[in-house]
Amino acid sequence: LDEVDGNFVRTVKNCLFSKSFPTPLKGPLRLAAVSKDVIEGILDLDMALTQSDDFLQYVSGGKLLPGSEPLAHRYGGHQFGYWAGQLGDGRAHFLGQYSNRKGEIWELQLKGSGKTPYSRSGDGRAVIRSSVREFLCSEAMHFLGVPTSRAASLIVSEEPVVRDQFYNGNMKTERGAVVLRLAKSWFRIGSLEILAQSGEIDLLRTLLNFIIGEHFSHISSSDPDKYLVFYSTVVNETAHLIAQWMSVGFAHGVCNTDNFSLLSITIDYGPFGFMEPYDPNFVPNTSDDEGRYSVGAQAQVGMFNLEKLLAALSPVLTVKQQKQAKIILKGYADLYHMRIHQIFKAKLGLLGEDEDDSDLIAFLLKMMEDTRADFTMTFRQLSEVSAEQLHDMNFTQMWALDDLSTHEHFSDWLNMYLLRLSRQQNDTDLDRQQRMTNVNPRYVLRNWMAEAAIRKAEMNDFSEVELLHHILSSPFVTQETAEEAGYAARPPLWAKRLKVSCSS
Ligand code: AMP
Ligand code: MG
Ligand code: MG
Repeated sequence: LDEVDGNFVRTVKNCLFSKSFPTPLKGPLRLAAVSKDVIEGILDLDMALTQSDDFLQYVSGGKLLPGSEPLAHRYGGHQFGYWAGQLGDGRAHFLGQYSNRKGEIWELQLKGSGKTPYSRSGDGRAVIRSSVREFLCSEAMHFLGVPTSRAASLIVSEEPVVRDQFYNGNMKTERGAVVLRLAKSWFRIGSLEILAQSGEIDLLRTLLNFIIGEHFSHISSSDPDKYLVFYSTVVNETAHLIAQWMSVGFAHGVCNTDNFSLLSITIDYGPFGFMEPYDPNFVPNTSDDEGRYSVGAQAQVGMFNLEKLLAALSPVLTVKQQKQAKIILKGYADLYHMRIHQIFKAKLGLLGEDEDDSDLIAFLLKMMEDTRADFTMTFRQLSEVSAEQLHDMNFTQMWALDDLSTHEHFSDWLNMYLLRLSRQQNDTDLDRQQRMTNVNPRYVLRNWMAEAAIRKAEMNDFSEVELLHHILSSPFVTQETAEEAGYAARPPLWAKRLKVSCSS
């Protein structure tokens, strides 16, 4: 721990955290959103408490809970392919750990809570739009079944925060907001990289032992291969995480090593996006000119990041272990493909294994790409349609299937698919539909949906945030309010012009 109070910019050595206090936001503060699931299920609190002024203060950095010693974490990272040196929590404060009734330990963090020793030239703040997006998406991902950090609350303030949204010189005054977010751990690949890069090997070992002890209970502290087993676990889980992102069309947007969790959960929601028309080249972040972090590049980027993790671990591995680690990394691609194969088979309701399954999946994705069919709704509507309707190509109100069916090879694919389904023993069409509706969401946080909620939130109307939060908490269940709002309908035309940038 670095014994410094006060917040200023510098590069330090031999520390993991610096003491740093949140800077209270200018009021009045408003509770824009709160997650009942987190408040009750993780924090063991009564929802009624969230209406108090004390709650507003605690979750926005105005007051500290007894015993809390807020810290900012020092980490580094590879950004867009290059070593960027020391980064660190530039606008986040770690408040402490909470052990809940279930015996789980969660790390609480404020984001947007002011400058820290790692703010560099930043102001330590987050604006309403990015905070609404982080709040909604982390909760939505959780309910989609994707490992993720959670969000407890979203507070908006009257604090002016100036941003150039699209790096075009148009500065705009927005307002500051704070999200209270939670994860079992906030350590990232970059947490280890900074130590290896600056030759702080004792501290690297200390941190690794701590992380393994706290979060990798299957690894024994006396195992001489413990760092290797740790590496192998992260490789495996990262492959799984990215496969899960792909299963819901999620593009993270900024897959730098400082944004890749060592627990392989989704962290740091910035310019992310859910792919709408199926397109592996979909890039959610308008500042990512080269499309480095396109949705379809994520698996490869995961490999790059794991290579950087291996480099960070190398100082504590023997030469033999380094060789073994390289072999583990080589296995990443196969692991990923195996996961993807399983996931997409489930998305199509396929049981067992048929030698043509990979072709069936690839053929469908290619047709989706050619016809720009909506990713989420194609799979959802395939789940909702009966085999008989499929056979008759009766797609009344099935707009994504309608788009897909314009493909010249659609009926060939359909015959293959129906034949494959008909060969499934001990399966009924209803069972198939049920399995598929449980893995193919009807609602994801499309950009235009988030944007509509943001526009209202910026006018202090949080009704749409609440509605989206509610709907996205049951993404596999058809809901009347969601249907009325058009969340499973063809996206509105204005949605085409939306952009998202890194400036948040
Ligand atoms: P990101 O790309 O969002 O993961 O951020 C990269 C780095 O920039 C991290 O170290 C952040 O803490 C820092 N950062 C981003 N925005 C700000 C801000 N407004 N003030 C200070 N630091 C920031
Ligand atoms: Mg980050
Ligand atoms: Mg960020």
